[in-house]
Amino acid sequence: MYDLHTHSVASDGTDTPTELAEQAAELGLTGFALCDHDILDGITEARNAGERLGVRVIAGIELSAKYAGVDIHVLGYGINPTPELDKVLAGLRRGRLDRIPRMIQQMDELGVPLTLKEVMAQVSGGSVGRPHVADALVAKGIVAHRDEAFARWLAAGRPAYVPKPTVDLVQGIDLLHQAGAAVVIAHPRIRGAAKVLTDEVLADLVTEHGLDGIEAGHPMHDAATRAQLYALAELLGVIATGSSDCHGTGKIGHELGSVTTPDGVTGELLRIISARGGAV
Ligand code: AMP
Ligand code: ZN
Ligand code: FE
Ligand code: FE
Repeated sequence: MYDLHTHSVASDGTDTPTELAEQAAELGLTGFALCDHDILDGITEARNAGERLGVRVIAGIELSAKYAGVDIHVLGYGINPTPELDKVLAGLRRGRLDRIPRMIQQMDELGVPLTLKEVMAQVSGGSVGRPHVADALVAKGIVAHRDEAFARWLAAGRPAYVPKPTVDLVQGIDLLHQAGAAVVIAHPRIRGAAKVLTDEVLADLVTEHGLDGIEAGHPMHDAATRAQLYALAELLGVIATGSSDCHGTGKIGHELGSVTTPDGVTGELLRIISARGGAV
């Protein structure tokens, strides 16, 4: 089995890439994909650890995109970075960093004291996000865990929410394809995505833009939603994946290996990557 969606300290996970590989080996997984938000920095370490431990590591990313005004996450597998992709990712990361002072300002107006230094003390990698703001609030004893910080202030629609820059969904898919990647829409039926990523829209992404797969299995999809997405993927003739979206201790209910993709399905994914010139 593979866990095809995990995060490390390169973005907002709490484990190093090496720790993820060690845990994957302990769980007896065949492999996992490291899919940090808008960054590839953890891949080399993950691959080295995977090689040592006999765990296959797929070079992935979770790209921040937007469709119909809604944040959509796009998984790219088997990335061979292009200068264009590197440039776009650098811009997304810059925008992630630039929004932090605005979030701190909003928190200040709400009477919650927080400094940039306190937030940056929680960041170990190059891709900063709301979870690091949440971690700083946990460190100060203001909230008990990330979930509480999101529920009170940081989630979309809450008072300290600041949107981050994104790429257009179709441009993002094209960009990842150009980097040799197989492209899968992450958790299409959570939050706002569920409203805009209808069956028709997913079908259009497959037929018009070559989308390669749908993340059907995800901790935030209930059993009925998963069944429906597995059936839709089959109907559309694309891959259906299942993954935990593990963030280490940063996300409750997303334990590594808790949702998986069979080796045979991952083999299909690897064949798509090979055919496109990606990294397998
Ligand atoms: P950002 O990329 O900065 O917009 O932050 C989004 C990240 O926050 C995603 O990785 C989500 O997994 C994470 N996230 C969203 N809601 C929550 C929550 N309630 N608790 C913990 N993490 C969350
Ligand atoms: Zn995350
Ligand atoms: Fe996501
Ligand atoms: Fe994720």
